[in-house]
Amino acid sequence: MPKVFHRGLLTALLLFGALAAVPTSVFADHAWGNYHWARTSNPFTLKLGDNLTSTWDPYLGVAINDWSASSVMDTTIIAGSTTGRRCRAKAGRVEVCNAAYGNNGWLGVASIWASGSHITQGTVKLNDTYFNTSTYNKPAWRNLVMCQEVGHTFGLDHQDEAFNNANLGTCMDYTNNPDSNQHPNQHDYDELVTIYSHLDGTTTVGQTVQSRPGKGKMPPAMADIDISGPGQWGKLIHSSRGGWKETYELDFGGGHKVITHVIWAIDEVEDADKEHEHR
Ligand SMILES: [Zn+2]
Ligand SMILES: [Zn+2]
Repeated sequence: MPKVFHRGLLTALLLFGALAAVPTSVFADHAWGNYHWARTSNPFTLKLGDNLTSTWDPYLGVAINDWSASSVMDTTIIAGSTTGRRCRAKAGRVEVCNAAYGNNGWLGVASIWASGSHITQGTVKLNDTYFNTSTYNKPAWRNLVMCQEVGHTFGLDHQDEAFNNANLGTCMDYTNNPDSNQHPNQHDYDELVTIYSHLDGTTTVGQTVQSRPGKGKMPPAMADIDISGPGQWGKLIHSSRGGWKETYELDFGGGHKVITHVIWAIDEVEDADKEHEHR
């Protein structure tokens, strides 16, 4: 099998191009690091485990329809392997969960487990403590957060992180008004093509992680980690203006990491803003 460009090399080439002649905005991309599922052919099918209550089921249906329009990947819903509250990850798939996780500030959290640049499993948690309030108990908010958190588990990042500017028409855009940001846009599909343009010699999709000794084996503590709050998310590695978007990284060594991506409730953001103004 021909060895196709790996993303690191591709990025280096793009950066070189950007430095040489072309405006950087042309290469604006929104991948989440270099993280991607390993697979030997496209399109690949990623399984999403449904650990949702019936209120959320239609929104997962919308999200898999939207994302499966991608030319490089399909998504399919399978029975969940955990509970909404526990949301334990399982190798080779993404578990999608909801529960009233408490007044912890976050609407949704997406976590990926990575070995090197390859995603091996993921979870999405949707916080009913906020979705049960009048502010967020709306189809548009549910669609946006479901679409965005599921999108993160493919390796996608946000296109825009300011709440107050005009909507870009994608769920990967932060906003105060979710109405026109409930689905992916063409740029998201283009980015997926970029992320998944190379092929790998192995696959992490729908497989159980090989428990061969030594290199490549996921540390046991990593497989069974509880990621219910910032105390377990590890080191803050990215924070957007005002701390609205935050990305955390837990490093288990040997290239094994858990990366967690948080979308905060706007009320919390506004409180943080007020604090900021008073400083
Ligand atoms: Zn790869
Ligand atoms: Zn996000």
